[in-house]
Amino acid sequence: MAVQFIDLKVQQERIYETILENIKGVLKHGQYIMGPEIKELEERLGRYVGVRHALSCASGTDALLMALMAYGVGPGDAIFTTPFTFVATAEVVSLLGATPVFVDIDPATYNIDPAHLQEAIAALEDKDPKQHPLPKGYEHLSPKGIIPVDLFGQAADYDRINEIATSKGLFVLEDAAQSFGAQYRDKQACALADISATSFFPAKPLGGYGDGGMVFTDDDGLFEQLKSVRVHGQGTDKYNNIRIGINGRCDTLQAAILLAKFDIFPEEIELRQKVAQRYNELLRTADGITCPFVAEGSLSAWAQYSIQSDKRTEIQDALKEAGIPTAIYYPKPLHLQDAYGYLEYKKSDFEVSEKISERIFSLPMHPYLREGDQARIAEIIRNV
Ligand SMILES: *Cc1c(COP(=O)(O)O)cnc(C)c1O
Repeated sequence: MAVQFIDLKVQQERIYETILENIKGVLKHGQYIMGPEIKELEERLGRYVGVRHALSCASGTDALLMALMAYGVGPGDAIFTTPFTFVATAEVVSLLGATPVFVDIDPATYNIDPAHLQEAIAALEDKDPKQHPLPKGYEHLSPKGIIPVDLFGQAADYDRINEIATSKGLFVLEDAAQSFGAQYRDKQACALADISATSFFPAKPLGGYGDGGMVFTDDDGLFEQLKSVRVHGQGTDKYNNIRIGINGRCDTLQAAILLAKFDIFPEEIELRQKVAQRYNELLRTADGITCPFVAEGSLSAWAQYSIQSDKRTEIQDALKEAGIPTAIYYPKPLHLQDAYGYLEYKKSDFEVSEKISERIFSLPMHPYLREGDQARIAEIIRNV
């Protein structure tokens, strides 16, 4: 059988009957919008993560957007985040008329570098782009929040990030789209900041059969805001609108499918550790290959197993020749994307992100990847 980048078939075979039963349950009660499966999913995932409030929504992007809307983010607000992420992280900031202020990543974890974060905040406070690159229009911005991204499944350095945020009066929104199931110190991902957002896009660690997402917070006030934002800014009822909101609901059918998938999710997180461990052993000594680094006290959800090499293209070609798919996350940092041209950042503003984007690529990664396939992948890489 061919090696899949992310194999959703094996998983489906394991839980096929439960998925069908859950779907049939929804067809029977017919509550396609906000049916009982929505509440059940929110309760189960909230308990797993260890936060008081979990609110399902239509996608990871909406989860991020709704979190920012709950904080009332808008024009004049600076939101610090990394340029080495999926575009959605920064896109939601721009959608609200606020401005992403990019901060380079740590070369080992690929997550936002707390030292650079401090410099960026100071540069903005002093209105001095010589201290740290700032976006066009920085003179009119005030620091408001930080969006660390738990890239490839590993939590960012929240001890330091939260400390910086507290000292500066900023909120922290955890982009946990890739890290649901990860751990940091004694906590689960999605419980590491003031508010967190995750995604159920099919390729994410807990993926559904379509789009979906969830917001997590311990803050009662934010939770009230989120509930309203999710349904067009509703007040006491649907036709009483007290703020501008969106249609951000998760479908009942999607929740029913996710419930079946969540049954085996903790076990899949364990399996992912084994698969990653095997890759590490097979590739650690390979010439010119940088394996993933997982920080002390951290457990990755292994959304991706990403390695670095100067011979990226040759390796990808050799693997492709053997029918093995790979992918590049991310080939171009956000500050160099046309969509962000308006911020007028320049090449070499964020050198770590730029350098890594030229060397990084991801190997097939899923809980059911077989040892023999991994050995074959490693063999091909070593031969290049
Ligand atoms: C996937 C992803 C998102 C967006 O999630 P969707 O469910 O696709 O909207 C946001 N941030 C990061 C880091 C992601 O990987």
